[in-house]
Order: sequence, then C-alpha cells, then structure tokens
Amino acid sequence: MNIVVLRENQQGESRVALMPEAVKKLVALKASVQIESSAGLGAARSDEDYRNAGAEISADRNALLESADVMPVVNRPAAVDFARLKKGAVVIGFLRPLDEPSALQPAADCGVTAFAVELIPRITRAQSMDALSSMATVAGYKAVIIGADRIPRMFPLLMTAAGTVPPARVLVLGAGVAGLQAIATAKRLGAVVEGYDVRAAAGEQVKSLGATFLEVDLGGIKTEDAGGYAVELSDEAMNRGRALIAEHAKQTDIIITTAQVPGRRAPLLITEDAVNGMKRGSLVIDLAGATGGNCALTKADEIVERNGVTVIAPTNLAATVPVHASQLYSRNITAFLTPMIKDGQLQIDMNDDVVGPSCVTHNGEIVNKRVSDML
Ligand code: NAD
Repeated sequence: MNIVVLRENQQGESRVALMPEAVKKLVALKASVQIESSAGLGAARSDEDYRNAGAEISADRNALLESADVMPVVNRPAAVDFARLKKGAVVIGFLRPLDEPSALQPAADCGVTAFAVELIPRITRAQSMDALSSMATVAGYKAVIIGADRIPRMFPLLMTAAGTVPPARVLVLGAGVAGLQAIATAKRLGAVVEGYDVRAAAGEQVKSLGATFLEVDLGGIKTEDAGGYAVELSDEAMNRGRALIAEHAKQTDIIITTAQVPGRRAPLLITEDAVNGMKRGSLVIDLAGATGGNCALTKADEIVERNGVTVIAPTNLAATVPVHASQLYSRNITAFLTPMIKDGQLQIDMNDDVVGPSCVTHNGEIVNKRVSDML
C-alpha cells in the first residue's frame, strides 16, 4: 500500500497531513510512504526528516497522485487532483462535506473513496481520531493570543507603584472545544472571563475553568441533539441570548465567538447594535467566519472597524500554529488508518461504526445520506 502526502497548496496553508513520527509508525506497519518534496517545511519538517522516518521524497506531484493508494490531506483536493487518482484510491481529510457537498461530486465521479474527518463520530473509541477537536483546540488558544496582542491594554490585574491596572474582560460565546480552550487560555493570562452557550452541559465546563457562565432563560426548550451538538433555535430564543450578550459586550475588551450548528449557517449572536455599544479599543474575534460568522459585522478573513471597535474573523487559525496543528492532526489520521491496515494493506470495513459514517464517496457514489440529501 502506497501512502502519499502532497504539499498543501491552498493559500495560507502551512500544515501537513502526516508528520515524520506518523510516517515511522505507518512504515512499521509495512506501508510505503511517499512525500512531495517540501511538504513539511511549513510545519518545520524537512525532506531529510521524512527520509529518516522511512519515506521516499518526490518532486513529481502528478506521479505521486497517480501512484497513491491512500492520500491523507489537510484540505480537500481540487477536482483535477481527484481525476489523477486511481479508481478506488482513498482520500482522508477535511473535505467540508456539509458546507460544500457538491465539491465532493468529482471524488465520486472518479471512483475515489473519500473519508471526511468532520464526519468521524464523536464516540469514545474515536476520540483519538477527532481532528475537529484538535484544530478547535489550536484555534481557541491562538484567538486569545491574537486578542492579547491586538488590544491596547494588558490582560492581568497588576498592582504597581503607579497604581492598579484592572484585568482585561473576555467574553467567549460558544463553549465547545474551541471556546473552552479560549476560556482556559484567557484565564491563564489573567483576564476576567465569561462564557455563554445554549447547551446546559457547557455551563458546568465553563465554571470548572474558573469563568462565569452567562445563563439565559430559554424556557426549557431543547438545545442539543442526541450527538451533543447544539440545534438551531427559534428567533425568540436567539433574541434572548442576543440581548444578554449585548448587555455584557458593553464592559468587554475581547469577545471570542465560536458558536456553530453543524450543517447550518453560524448563529448570529452579536448584532450591529451590540457592536455599537462596545467600548473603543475592544475587539471581536469571530471564529465562525467560514460559516457566516456570529457577529453581524463579520467579514471572513477581513478586518472591520466600527467606532474604535475591531471585528476580525480569521478562518484558518490552526494553520498559524502549524507544528502542533500538524502533529495533532497527523496523530488523528494515523489513529483512523492504523486499525484498517492489515499486513501492509488497507482493508476497509464499511460496517465499522467509525469507518462507515465518515465515508462520503465510495464505488462512484455519494454514500453518506446527510451529504446526498443536501445535494
Ligand atoms: P461546535 O463547533 O459545533 O460548536 C461550538 C459551540 O457553539 C458548541 O458548544 C455549541 O453548543 C455552541 N452553540 C451553537 N449554537 C449556539 C448559540 N445559538 N448560542 C451559543 N452557543 C451556541 O461544537 P464542538 O466544539 O465541536 O463540540 C460540540 C459538542 O461535542 C460538545 O458537546 C462537546 O463537548 C462535544 N464533543 C464530544 C467529543 C467526544 O466525545 N469525543 C469530542 C469533542 C466534542
């Protein structure tokens, strides 16, 4: 079995799908691994590092595509790349099956078997494969670091001879994986932190990190599905949340928003009026920019200024921490592939409760029902 890793060629991408330590593990399982020259440079890994781990290096991207049996990727390959793969070749990565389902039709048409890491079920057995959590962890951390760098003040409470410096106030909207990491990081830097989420379970987690949980009375409605994800709420419930957020936004230096509802536009949590009510010098970092944003002024990957308030929405923060993002991702990918490798060959069991649900295309068809329904 030939595992191929290409250099990610999307703008701003610096991660790599497999780090040398993962290559070593796969080679020990009798797989052969080929890496496109320079694929690891963004993540501070040289061709030599990969060679030492047992990989072969090639600069011929097209030949690599043609010879791949399995191709772990960070981002979804372009249609022309799918077309170069062998029928039956396996691709695994962030394929955005629920945001851009039609972009996976070329994979089906080319007979590629595509696994989307976004669809790996969040069951206990698959925790080590949870690439969404890995990237959300990195993004939540980095959002706070960017925030600390951008605002015109310090984070911690300081008592100095020149007087007291009050701590920064940080509000985190959406207390899932990214939000909780943002809360933990902001707390470590000394900020006073508040968290908000519609899932009841999130409240306990926010409090356990030493932050205050903003509670809104949603009238006992159902806020999460069986998988633990938030559901889309009624306008009335959303408005109650927005009013509470607008009130707290007035005193906040940084709002970090991470709220998502899988397969839907990101919920709008910060209205234009709420931004207008914020202090000069304060900042909104919207991590939901790729799916429409949690703030009314958000423009993905742009900087918006309003009355001294800045709104930014970086869509690929994980790529700005490429070493650790690649390391975590590469371990997630290896954890997914390893149980399927038998005597150096990939044996796909679609009845497996992790493998089956994460498959989007197989044998020329879109096999995931959620994705085919969207098409
Ligand atoms: P996500 O990225 O889908 O959403 C981020 C957060 O936004 C979630 O906490 C969600 O509740 C919140 N949100 C959605 N709509 C909102 C609204 N209108 N107002 C405020 N907040 C809103 O979520 P995620 O970080 O990927 O995690 C989602 C769930 O999965 C959580 O329950 C998490 O604990 C769970 N999880 C389980 C595992 C596992 O068991 N392996 C791993 C990771 C996450």
